[in-house]
Amino acid sequence: MRSIKSKLAWAAVMGGLVAALTPVAGAQSRAFYQQTDIKGQEIGKLTGDVYYARMDDYVSVFMVTPEGIILAEPIGVEMATWLKGELDKRFHVPVKYVIYSHSHWDHASGASVYADTARTIGHENMLKNIAMPPANTPLPRNAVAQDTNKNGMIEMSEAQGQIKTMFAMYDANHDGVLSGAEIVRGPLQYVNAPDMTYVDHMTIRLGGKRVEIISKPTIHADDNTIVRFVDGTNVLFASDWITIHRLPFGPINSDENAAVKSVETMDFEYFVCSHGQLGKKADVAANLRYREQLHDAVAKAVAAGQTLEQAQASVTMDDYKDWEFFAVQRPQNIAGMYREIKK
Ligand SMILES: [Zn+2]
Repeated sequence: MRSIKSKLAWAAVMGGLVAALTPVAGAQSRAFYQQTDIKGQEIGKLTGDVYYARMDDYVSVFMVTPEGIILAEPIGVEMATWLKGELDKRFHVPVKYVIYSHSHWDHASGASVYADTARTIGHENMLKNIAMPPANTPLPRNAVAQDTNKNGMIEMSEAQGQIKTMFAMYDANHDGVLSGAEIVRGPLQYVNAPDMTYVDHMTIRLGGKRVEIISKPTIHADDNTIVRFVDGTNVLFASDWITIHRLPFGPINSDENAAVKSVETMDFEYFVCSHGQLGKKADVAANLRYREQLHDAVAKAVAAGQTLEQAQASVTMDDYKDWEFFAVQRPQNIAGMYREIKK
Protein backbone atom coordinates (compact mmCIF):
# COMPACT_ATOMS: atom_id res chain seq x y z
CA MET A 1 0.00 0.00 0.00
CA ARG A 2 1.21 3.48 -0.78
CA SER A 3 2.28 5.66 2.14
CA ILE A 4 0.81 9.11 2.71
CA LYS A 5 4.20 10.53 1.79
CA SER A 6 4.27 8.86 -1.62
CA LYS A 7 0.65 9.87 -2.19
CA LEU A 8 1.66 13.47 -1.63
CA ALA A 9 4.60 13.06 -3.99
CA TRP A 10 2.24 11.59 -6.57
CA ALA A 11 -0.17 14.52 -6.10
CA ALA A 12 2.71 16.93 -6.70
CA VAL A 13 3.62 15.15 -9.92
CA MET A 14 -0.01 15.23 -11.10
CA GLY A 15 -0.29 18.89 -10.12
CA GLY A 16 2.77 19.63 -12.24
CA LEU A 17 1.26 17.74 -15.15
CA VAL A 18 -2.00 19.68 -14.89
CA ALA A 19 -0.03 22.94 -14.78
CA ALA A 20 1.94 21.88 -17.86
CA LEU A 21 -1.32 21.10 -19.70
CA THR A 22 -3.01 24.37 -18.72
CA PRO A 23 -3.22 26.34 -21.95
CA VAL A 24 -2.11 29.92 -22.41
CA ALA A 25 -4.83 32.51 -21.87
CA GLY A 26 -7.16 32.78 -24.83
CA ALA A 27 -6.28 29.48 -26.45
CA GLN A 28 -8.92 26.86 -27.11
CA SER A 29 -7.24 23.54 -26.55
CA ARG A 30 -8.21 20.45 -28.51
CA ALA A 31 -7.80 18.56 -25.22
CA PHE A 32 -10.95 20.30 -23.91
CA TYR A 33 -13.08 18.36 -26.39
CA GLN A 34 -14.75 15.09 -25.42
CA GLN A 35 -12.14 12.38 -25.70
CA THR A 36 -12.82 8.84 -26.90
CA ASP A 37 -10.76 6.19 -28.67
CA ILE A 38 -11.38 7.89 -32.02
CA LYS A 39 -8.36 10.06 -32.81
CA GLY A 40 -7.13 12.19 -35.68
CA GLN A 41 -8.25 14.69 -38.28
CA GLU A 42 -9.53 13.46 -41.62
CA ILE A 43 -11.83 14.17 -44.55
CA GLY A 44 -13.76 11.36 -46.24
CA LYS A 45 -16.39 11.01 -48.91
CA LEU A 46 -19.94 9.98 -47.99
CA THR A 47 -21.80 10.17 -51.33
CA GLY A 48 -21.90 12.41 -54.39
CA ASP A 49 -20.44 15.74 -53.37
CA VAL A 50 -21.03 15.30 -49.64
CA TYR A 51 -18.11 14.62 -47.29
CA TYR A 52 -17.47 14.29 -43.58
CA ALA A 53 -14.66 16.00 -41.69
CA ARG A 54 -13.45 14.68 -38.35
CA MET A 55 -11.39 15.93 -35.41
CA ASP A 56 -11.09 13.06 -32.92
CA ASP A 57 -14.61 12.25 -31.65
CA TYR A 58 -16.18 15.26 -33.41
CA VAL A 59 -17.60 15.06 -36.94
CA SER A 60 -19.08 17.62 -39.32
CA VAL A 61 -20.44 17.30 -42.87
CA PHE A 62 -19.98 19.53 -45.92
CA MET A 63 -21.26 19.69 -49.49
CA VAL A 64 -19.13 20.95 -52.36
CA THR A 65 -20.83 22.87 -55.20
CA PRO A 66 -19.30 24.77 -58.15
CA GLU A 67 -20.14 28.03 -56.32
CA GLY A 68 -18.82 27.11 -52.90
CA ILE A 69 -19.11 24.88 -49.87
CA ILE A 70 -21.92 24.49 -47.34
CA LEU A 71 -20.63 23.26 -43.97
CA ALA A 72 -22.40 21.99 -40.86
CA GLU A 73 -20.88 23.20 -37.61
CA PRO A 74 -17.38 24.63 -37.22
CA ILE A 75 -16.57 22.49 -34.09
CA GLY A 76 -13.74 24.75 -32.90
CA VAL A 77 -10.93 27.13 -33.78
CA GLU A 78 -8.30 24.43 -34.36
CA MET A 79 -10.63 22.30 -36.49
CA ALA A 80 -11.87 25.28 -38.52
CA THR A 81 -8.33 26.49 -39.18
CA TRP A 82 -7.19 23.04 -40.33
CA LEU A 83 -10.33 22.32 -42.38
CA LYS A 84 -10.31 25.69 -44.16
CA GLY A 85 -6.78 25.01 -45.36
CA GLU A 86 -7.69 21.49 -46.53
CA LEU A 87 -10.83 22.68 -48.35
CA ASP A 88 -8.86 25.39 -50.16
CA LYS A 89 -6.25 22.85 -51.27
CA ARG A 90 -8.70 20.15 -52.39
CA PHE A 91 -11.70 21.97 -53.81
CA HIS A 92 -10.59 25.52 -54.76
CA VAL A 93 -13.98 27.04 -53.86
CA PRO A 94 -14.75 29.11 -50.76
CA VAL A 95 -16.95 28.08 -47.83
CA LYS A 96 -20.17 30.05 -48.36
CA TYR A 97 -22.34 28.90 -45.45
CA VAL A 98 -21.62 27.54 -41.97
CA ILE A 99 -24.69 26.10 -40.24
CA TYR A 100 -24.72 25.93 -36.44
CA SER A 101 -26.27 22.73 -35.03
CA HIS A 102 -26.70 24.42 -31.62
CA SER A 103 -24.92 26.96 -29.46
CA HIS A 104 -22.75 24.72 -27.25
CA TRP A 105 -19.10 25.78 -27.26
CA ASP A 106 -17.75 22.40 -28.45
CA HIS A 107 -19.77 22.56 -31.68
CA ALA A 108 -20.26 26.27 -32.39
CA SER A 109 -16.78 27.72 -31.77
CA GLY A 110 -14.52 28.89 -34.58
CA ALA A 111 -16.93 29.99 -37.33
CA SER A 112 -15.12 33.34 -37.53
CA VAL A 113 -12.29 31.46 -39.29
CA TYR A 114 -14.61 31.33 -42.34
CA ALA A 115 -15.91 34.91 -41.97
CA ASP A 116 -14.04 36.21 -45.03
CA THR A 117 -16.25 34.16 -47.38
CA ALA A 118 -19.08 32.56 -45.39
CA ARG A 119 -22.29 33.57 -43.69
CA THR A 120 -23.40 31.70 -40.57
CA ILE A 121 -26.90 30.35 -39.98
CA GLY A 122 -28.44 29.31 -36.66
CA HIS A 123 -31.78 28.82 -34.97
CA GLU A 124 -33.31 32.00 -33.56
CA ASN A 125 -33.00 30.63 -29.98
CA MET A 126 -29.23 30.68 -30.36
CA LEU A 127 -29.29 34.46 -29.87
CA LYS A 128 -30.74 34.25 -26.34
CA ASN A 129 -28.57 31.23 -25.50
CA ILE A 130 -25.31 33.04 -26.21
CA ALA A 131 -26.43 36.43 -24.84
CA MET A 132 -24.78 37.65 -21.61
CA PRO A 133 -27.20 37.24 -18.67
CA PRO A 134 -27.91 40.31 -16.45
CA ALA A 135 -24.83 41.69 -14.68
CA ASN A 136 -26.30 40.89 -11.24
CA THR A 137 -26.64 37.15 -11.99
CA PRO A 138 -25.28 35.34 -8.90
CA LEU A 139 -22.60 32.66 -9.11
CA PRO A 140 -24.16 29.27 -9.89
CA ARG A 141 -24.06 26.67 -7.12
CA ASN A 142 -20.98 24.81 -8.44
CA ALA A 143 -19.00 28.07 -8.52
CA VAL A 144 -20.07 29.35 -5.07
CA ALA A 145 -17.91 26.65 -3.44
CA GLN A 146 -14.88 27.96 -5.37
CA ASP A 147 -15.39 31.56 -4.21
CA THR A 148 -13.13 31.26 -1.18
CA ASN A 149 -12.77 35.05 -0.63
CA LYS A 150 -16.57 35.41 -0.91
CA ASN A 151 -16.52 38.43 -3.22
CA GLY A 152 -19.13 36.97 -5.57
CA MET A 153 -16.57 36.52 -8.37
CA ILE A 154 -14.14 33.76 -9.31
CA GLU A 155 -10.51 34.83 -9.61
CA MET A 156 -8.05 32.66 -11.56
CA SER A 157 -6.43 31.64 -8.26
CA GLU A 158 -9.78 30.36 -6.95
CA ALA A 159 -10.98 28.54 -10.09
CA GLN A 160 -11.26 24.76 -10.10
CA GLY A 161 -12.12 22.07 -12.62
CA GLN A 162 -13.68 23.09 -15.93
CA ILE A 163 -13.96 26.73 -14.85
CA LYS A 164 -10.19 26.74 -14.32
CA THR A 165 -9.19 24.97 -17.53
CA MET A 166 -11.55 27.10 -19.65
CA PHE A 167 -11.12 30.32 -17.67
CA ALA A 168 -10.26 32.47 -20.70
CA MET A 169 -13.22 31.07 -22.67
CA TYR A 170 -15.60 32.16 -19.87
CA ASP A 171 -13.97 35.58 -19.42
CA ALA A 172 -15.95 37.45 -22.09
CA ASN A 173 -14.73 40.93 -21.08
CA HIS A 174 -11.10 39.77 -20.55
CA ASP A 175 -10.86 41.37 -17.11
CA GLY A 176 -9.25 38.33 -15.48
CA VAL A 177 -12.19 37.58 -13.13
CA LEU A 178 -15.38 35.65 -13.78
CA SER A 179 -18.76 37.08 -12.80
CA GLY A 180 -21.86 34.96 -12.19
CA ALA A 181 -23.16 36.12 -15.56
CA GLU A 182 -19.99 34.98 -17.38
CA ILE A 183 -20.09 31.55 -15.73
CA VAL A 184 -23.81 31.02 -16.33
CA ARG A 185 -23.35 32.01 -20.00
CA GLY A 186 -20.68 29.38 -20.50
CA PRO A 187 -17.27 29.09 -22.21
CA LEU A 188 -18.51 30.81 -25.38
CA GLN A 189 -15.50 33.04 -26.14
CA TYR A 190 -15.22 31.63 -29.68
CA VAL A 191 -18.94 31.34 -30.44
CA ASN A 192 -20.25 34.17 -32.60
CA ALA A 193 -23.92 34.99 -33.16
CA PRO A 194 -25.27 33.67 -36.47
CA ASP A 195 -25.48 36.16 -39.36
CA MET A 196 -28.87 34.69 -40.30
CA THR A 197 -31.47 33.04 -38.08
CA TYR A 198 -34.50 30.91 -38.88
CA VAL A 199 -37.43 29.51 -36.87
CA ASP A 200 -38.92 26.32 -38.42
CA HIS A 201 -36.88 25.58 -41.49
CA MET A 202 -34.77 27.18 -44.19
CA THR A 203 -33.49 26.01 -47.57
CA ILE A 204 -30.16 27.02 -49.09
CA ARG A 205 -29.57 26.69 -52.82
CA LEU A 206 -26.03 27.02 -54.07
CA GLY A 207 -24.39 25.89 -57.31
CA GLY A 208 -27.48 23.89 -58.33
CA LYS A 209 -27.62 21.99 -55.03
CA ARG A 210 -29.95 22.14 -52.05
CA VAL A 211 -29.45 21.92 -48.30
CA GLU A 212 -32.35 21.88 -45.84
CA ILE A 213 -32.00 23.36 -42.35
CA ILE A 214 -34.63 22.10 -39.92
CA SER A 215 -35.43 22.96 -36.29
CA LYS A 216 -35.67 20.02 -33.84
CA PRO A 217 -35.70 21.39 -30.29
CA THR A 218 -34.40 18.81 -27.80
CA ILE A 219 -33.86 18.49 -24.03
CA HIS A 220 -30.16 19.04 -24.79
CA ALA A 221 -30.65 22.24 -26.82
CA ASP A 222 -33.71 24.34 -27.67
CA ASP A 223 -31.75 25.79 -30.60
CA ASN A 224 -31.03 22.34 -32.06
CA THR A 225 -30.84 22.18 -35.85
CA ILE A 226 -30.56 19.21 -38.21
CA VAL A 227 -29.25 19.50 -41.77
CA ARG A 228 -30.25 17.44 -44.81
CA PHE A 229 -27.82 17.53 -47.73
CA VAL A 230 -29.94 16.76 -50.80
CA ASP A 231 -27.66 15.08 -53.30
CA GLY A 232 -28.95 11.81 -54.75
CA THR A 233 -28.57 9.46 -51.78
CA ASN A 234 -29.03 12.11 -49.14
CA VAL A 235 -27.03 12.75 -46.00
CA LEU A 236 -28.56 13.78 -42.70
CA PHE A 237 -26.53 15.52 -40.00
CA ALA A 238 -27.83 15.77 -36.43
CA SER A 239 -25.72 16.92 -33.51
CA ASP A 240 -25.43 15.17 -30.12
CA TRP A 241 -28.93 13.76 -29.60
CA ILE A 242 -29.24 10.86 -32.08
CA THR A 243 -26.08 8.95 -31.29
CA ILE A 244 -24.73 6.01 -33.27
CA HIS A 245 -23.98 2.76 -31.42
CA ARG A 246 -23.67 4.95 -28.35
CA LEU A 247 -26.17 5.58 -25.54
CA PRO A 248 -27.93 8.96 -25.62
CA PHE A 249 -26.50 11.55 -23.26
CA GLY A 250 -28.06 12.36 -19.87
CA PRO A 251 -31.58 12.13 -18.42
CA ILE A 252 -33.55 11.61 -21.63
CA ASN A 253 -37.30 11.13 -21.70
CA SER A 254 -39.72 9.80 -24.28
CA ASP A 255 -40.90 13.30 -25.26
CA GLU A 256 -37.98 13.14 -27.70
CA ASN A 257 -39.07 9.87 -29.32
CA ALA A 258 -41.45 11.59 -31.72
CA ALA A 259 -38.65 13.89 -32.89
CA VAL A 260 -36.29 10.93 -33.45
CA LYS A 261 -39.06 9.16 -35.35
CA SER A 262 -39.67 12.24 -37.49
CA VAL A 263 -35.99 12.16 -38.46
CA GLU A 264 -36.13 8.43 -39.24
CA THR A 265 -39.00 9.00 -41.70
CA MET A 266 -37.01 11.56 -43.70
CA ASP A 267 -35.38 10.67 -47.00
CA PHE A 268 -31.68 9.94 -46.47
CA GLU A 269 -29.23 7.06 -46.54
CA TYR A 270 -26.16 8.33 -44.65
CA PHE A 271 -26.50 9.58 -41.10
CA VAL A 272 -23.82 11.57 -39.32
CA CYS A 273 -24.03 12.44 -35.62
CA SER A 274 -21.63 15.14 -34.45
CA HIS A 275 -19.85 12.46 -32.39
CA GLY A 276 -18.33 9.03 -32.90
CA GLN A 277 -18.84 6.57 -35.72
CA LEU A 278 -20.40 7.32 -39.11
CA GLY A 279 -23.88 5.86 -39.59
CA LYS A 280 -26.76 5.01 -41.86
CA LYS A 281 -30.51 5.26 -41.54
CA ALA A 282 -30.64 1.94 -39.62
CA ASP A 283 -28.62 3.59 -36.83
CA VAL A 284 -31.37 6.17 -36.32
CA ALA A 285 -33.90 3.33 -36.10
CA ALA A 286 -31.69 1.58 -33.53
CA ASN A 287 -31.45 4.75 -31.44
CA LEU A 288 -35.25 5.03 -31.45
CA ARG A 289 -35.65 1.34 -30.54
CA TYR A 290 -33.32 1.81 -27.55
CA ARG A 291 -35.37 4.78 -26.33
CA GLU A 292 -38.67 2.91 -26.72
CA GLN A 293 -37.40 -0.24 -24.99
CA LEU A 294 -35.94 1.83 -22.16
CA HIS A 295 -39.23 3.68 -21.67
CA ASP A 296 -41.20 0.40 -21.56
CA ALA A 297 -38.77 -1.23 -19.13
CA VAL A 298 -38.75 1.78 -16.78
CA ALA A 299 -42.57 1.99 -16.94
CA LYS A 300 -42.73 -1.65 -15.81
CA ALA A 301 -40.31 -0.94 -12.95
CA VAL A 302 -42.42 2.04 -11.84
CA ALA A 303 -45.61 -0.05 -12.06
CA ALA A 304 -43.93 -2.64 -9.82
CA GLY A 305 -43.33 0.08 -7.21
CA GLN A 306 -39.55 0.24 -7.66
CA THR A 307 -37.54 3.22 -6.43
CA LEU A 308 -35.23 4.95 -8.91
CA GLU A 309 -32.26 3.07 -7.44
CA GLN A 310 -34.11 -0.24 -7.83
CA ALA A 311 -35.04 0.63 -11.43
CA GLN A 312 -31.41 1.51 -12.17
CA ALA A 313 -30.46 -1.96 -10.95
CA SER A 314 -33.27 -3.91 -12.62
CA VAL A 315 -33.43 -2.23 -16.04
CA THR A 316 -30.27 -3.75 -17.46
CA MET A 317 -30.81 -3.11 -21.21
CA ASP A 318 -28.48 -6.02 -21.98
CA ASP A 319 -29.09 -5.80 -25.76
CA TYR A 320 -27.11 -2.57 -25.78
CA LYS A 321 -24.13 -3.64 -23.64
CA ASP A 322 -21.69 -3.13 -26.52
CA TRP A 323 -22.81 0.46 -27.17
CA GLU A 324 -20.40 3.20 -26.12
CA PHE A 325 -20.92 4.91 -22.74
CA PHE A 326 -23.24 2.09 -21.64
CA ALA A 327 -21.99 2.08 -18.04
CA VAL A 328 -22.05 5.86 -17.61
CA GLN A 329 -25.22 6.83 -19.46
CA ARG A 330 -27.61 3.91 -18.75
CA PRO A 331 -28.37 5.03 -15.13
CA GLN A 332 -28.81 8.65 -16.27
CA ASN A 333 -31.08 7.66 -19.17
CA ILE A 334 -33.17 5.61 -16.69
CA ALA A 335 -33.36 8.55 -14.28
CA GLY A 336 -34.83 10.79 -17.00
CA MET A 337 -37.42 8.22 -18.02
CA TYR A 338 -38.25 7.47 -14.36
CA ARG A 339 -38.95 11.14 -13.60
CA GLU A 340 -41.13 11.44 -16.70
CA ILE A 341 -43.22 8.34 -15.87
CA LYS A 342 -43.57 9.27 -12.17
CA LYS A 343 -45.04 12.72 -12.78
ZN1 LIG B 1 -24.27 19.94 -27.23
